[in-house]
Amino acid sequence: MEDSEGRWSKAADGSAAAMRMAEKLIAEMKASRGSEAPLGYGTTAYELPAIFALTGESVKNVADAEAFLARMDGTEREAALYAAEVAAAARHALGRDPAGAGFIADSTLREMGLYLVDGTIPGIAVIHGKAADAASAASLTKELQQRGILILACGQFAGQLAEAGVKAAESRRLIALGDELSMAHAVDFAVRVGLAFGNIQRGEKGKMLGYIRERLKAFVLAVGEQDELQQAINAGAEFLGLPVITDGAGMVQAALDAKGITAQSVQIDVPVAYGPAFEGERIRKPDVHVEAGGGKSKSFELVVTRAGIEDGRVTLVGRDLDGFEEGQLIPLGILAEVSGKRMQKDFEPVLENKIELYCNRAEGLWFTGKRGLIWLRVSKDAFRRGLRLAHMGNIIHAMLHKDFPSLVDKVQVTLITDEAALEKELARARAIYEERDVRLRGLTDEAADAFYSCLLCQSFAPDHVCVITPERVGLCGSVSWLDAKAGHEITPSGPNQPIAKSGDDIKGSWPSVDDYVRKASHGHLDRFCLYSIMESPCTACGCFECIVGILPEANGFVIVDREFAEETPLGMKFSTLAGSISGGQQAPGFMGVAKRFMLSRKFLRAEGGIRRVVWMTSRMKGFLREKMDFAAFGLDAGFLDMIADETNARTTQEVLDHMTKNAHPALQMERLM
Ligand code: SF4
Ligand code: ZN
Repeated sequence: MEDSEGRWSKAADGSAAAMRMAEKLIAEMKASRGSEAPLGYGTTAYELPAIFALTGESVKNVADAEAFLARMDGTEREAALYAAEVAAAARHALGRDPAGAGFIADSTLREMGLYLVDGTIPGIAVIHGKAADAASAASLTKELQQRGILILACGQFAGQLAEAGVKAAESRRLIALGDELSMAHAVDFAVRVGLAFGNIQRGEKGKMLGYIRERLKAFVLAVGEQDELQQAINAGAEFLGLPVITDGAGMVQAALDAKGITAQSVQIDVPVAYGPAFEGERIRKPDVHVEAGGGKSKSFELVVTRAGIEDGRVTLVGRDLDGFEEGQLIPLGILAEVSGKRMQKDFEPVLENKIELYCNRAEGLWFTGKRGLIWLRVSKDAFRRGLRLAHMGNIIHAMLHKDFPSLVDKVQVTLITDEAALEKELARARAIYEERDVRLRGLTDEAADAFYSCLLCQSFAPDHVCVITPERVGLCGSVSWLDAKAGHEITPSGPNQPIAKSGDDIKGSWPSVDDYVRKASHGHLDRFCLYSIMESPCTACGCFECIVGILPEANGFVIVDREFAEETPLGMKFSTLAGSISGGQQAPGFMGVAKRFMLSRKFLRAEGGIRRVVWMTSRMKGFLREKMDFAAFGLDAGFLDMIADETNARTTQEVLDHMTKNAHPALQMERLM
């Protein structure tokens, strides 16, 4: 063990080395591309994020970088981070990125934001260095994956994982960033959580350091002997507020303790691995043992309340997986019956919606769809390891107990592959879906006597408040009014609180909502008009699916989804727009929303509703074409053709031309401003 002074002098040498590397690469860029050559990544709104966040300086091209490096005297404890960031960006510009995922886009960060706040991802492990061998690298990774930790792997460690056959994929919560220098991308990720969700502005160094220290559940695992550069990066990471844990037994536990992360791995009786790391796993056709549903065979899922059931009982009606031929399409019904004193009929769909997620968390199971149209794939590998239908029953039983402890006392699951039995249950299920739909249609904001808050995202955006109504889903798209109501029932003092309300208001403004919002935002917000974008609009944390923004010349709004990486007619990309509306700020004219909210009668109600939309991405048009009840708005699907999209309009003028040609209604509407 080296003493701390020895370590520091090594780190200082490493910093100096990183500086020289950055200077060399910048000099090379200057020689081949000139001083104006751009530096950075097209997928972020935060330039070079660490420099942007901590120093406030703008480094956008070679000349900026040169001047920036010249100003640094190398005594800053975080100098290595800046140097690594510049070097990695220069290398990127020169087309010399090492193998790996590289820089993580803002859109990925936002998508993960939700998982970070709701605890699906309880923490982030940044790993670099070199393990004793490939097998120990794999086992350390597995230990973290089982706890749902997101892993960003760099350096030789990442190579060892590949060697051990561990697949890296964002969907597995394991991202191989690249070599040691790629640690810069992990640092960029950390500071951007603060920028995107924490309402921290460029250059607010103290605020950022406090934020990372207190809110970001991330740590560094420095594996194996660490050289100068690695030590310099470790020193920088520690300065940033990321604890650095060095090799040794109990490394994972020490890291979790250092950041106060409580992550239990769920123990379920299944012969395959189980955990959030497998949620996004795909099973390709050649790897499928059997498949069910998908519109090609009869299938359904249903959760109902029933008295007199036996907890933990799993029944199979019909043949099991080994009773079918490989590659066969099988019928499948999943019936989960639950009971509990505080269980309500309204919560049945909330529980039912979870079946998809629960099944997806099993390695070798892939599940999508809802109700009478589910689609399941079982991989050959999972089958070989002994996975059978009853295991799905075990999973659903265990997870419903875990997630809804105060609602369900008993869970009993029946899996049906027998055609005749399935037919009978499906008819019963259809009647129940229908009954629910009638009830859901009656669930309007006018009829509700309480709305619910969601404060989950306050762990990252401390002043942000979501107010969720029957017709206004949370902006992440994952929390409906029923979800929030169930959430309140499960944890009465938790993030979902009821907000009493009576009557209707065209703008969606109520004194009770304002009182709540004022308190919950710690005095930062005074008023919410739930149905308006121009007057006291709702705030955004950062995990919204779409952004709605005003295009004044067109007297309407533009809608861009998170997946759209190009410039919008607002002259900005999604990432730039997102950067300016996140963090719990009110930004009249702009709003972060869930895709589903566009289908609501309350969407932009104060401004004239969907008729105000003048441009949207074609992806969102596809979504509306499929889901929207146009008749309810006195429209038909042809309305979508009046709205411009990226295939016919890139600029304001092109949007206007498209509107004029198609007689878009917004041209005749009252001026927005
Ligand atoms: Fe975050 Fe709002 Fe979604 Fe709750 S509803 S998780 S606060 S975005
Ligand atoms: Zn959020």
